[in-house]
Amino acid sequence: MLTAKRILVTGGAGFIGSHLCEHLLSKGSEVICLDNFYCGTRRNIHHLLHNRNFDLVRHDVTEPIRVEVDEIYNLACPASPVYYQRDPVQTIKTSVHGAINMLELAERTRAKILQTSASEIYGNTEVNPVTEDYWGRVNTNGSRACYEEGKRAAETLFYDYHRQNKTAVKVARVFNTYGPRMHPNDGQVVSSFVVAALRNKDITVFGDGSQTRSFCYVDDIVRALVSFMGETPDDFIGPMNLGNPNEYTIIDLAKGIIEMTNSRSQIVFQPLPKGEPMRRGPDIGLAQKTINWAPVTPLHQGLVKTVAYFEEYLKTNRPGP
Ligand code: NAD
Repeated sequence: MLTAKRILVTGGAGFIGSHLCEHLLSKGSEVICLDNFYCGTRRNIHHLLHNRNFDLVRHDVTEPIRVEVDEIYNLACPASPVYYQRDPVQTIKTSVHGAINMLELAERTRAKILQTSASEIYGNTEVNPVTEDYWGRVNTNGSRACYEEGKRAAETLFYDYHRQNKTAVKVARVFNTYGPRMHPNDGQVVSSFVVAALRNKDITVFGDGSQTRSFCYVDDIVRALVSFMGETPDDFIGPMNLGNPNEYTIIDLAKGIIEMTNSRSQIVFQPLPKGEPMRRGPDIGLAQKTINWAPVTPLHQGLVKTVAYFEEYLKTNRPGP
């Protein structure tokens, strides 16, 4: 009889992590969800607590941990500027010390380990869409550096553990992801617009809203992470871009959300912040070729599910001003 895989998901009580835990459980794996609840919530995984294949461990990845596992998905790290800039030293420690502790664990248990890196490692890019061979353009002294440089250093650790110790690693560079269980007040464009629309508050658009962004539905990202981990040969370590290459203007997104929610919100315009890129999107050619992956959830369909989540959420919670 085949025994179920034991999989550790760090940051498992967060937005993407909770969907990943759910998916892995549905495939028959045993899941250990590790989180220090810095910005994740029990609410995100509440429905999994009764599952006998699910364990929750309250732990900080900046401290070593001893568990026996077959695979590790390392997601622990605050993903939105609101959270990662609140305690920048903790953010970079989470990325760097967290990477070292999880890589050491992977080495000791001979587990495969996947790092969720981020499009932010590319910084303020001069090219669009961006391919994996672009080295990045990041300011070490910027307000986002704790996240950007933390993620860059974590990637380097993954490559070096692989080169030096033969650790089985995978590095995924995740782009803008949205869906149910996003933080309601994390400053991300989808959650901000949906929450404002549901509360009939003004929706703020920077510039004239003609700048474009790409949005990938969370189920598509989870599917890609699991394929990358399970379906690529051990010597394929990435990095691999994962995101939705379709671009939408911010103004169209705002109008679409207002219409979808029958909202009385008004769109108000503010000057475009300095350095705000006009376009930002992934080239996913490598993921298409390697894991035969592309996002399949249309934006409208994903937004309907996201709106339904926030409608329910706002009945019982207040997201702040
Ligand atoms: P999230 O903030 O919802 O989840 C992160 C989780 O990590 C939270 O539950 C938080 O409590 C936990 N955490 C933070 N510091 C920790 C620590 N020191 N020890 C243990 N747990 C800790 O973020 P998310 O959107 O689910 O993102 C998950 C991963 O994907 C992150 O690594 C993020 O950088 C990456 N990513 C996300 C996006 C996106 O659009 N959401 C884009 C690019 C990359």
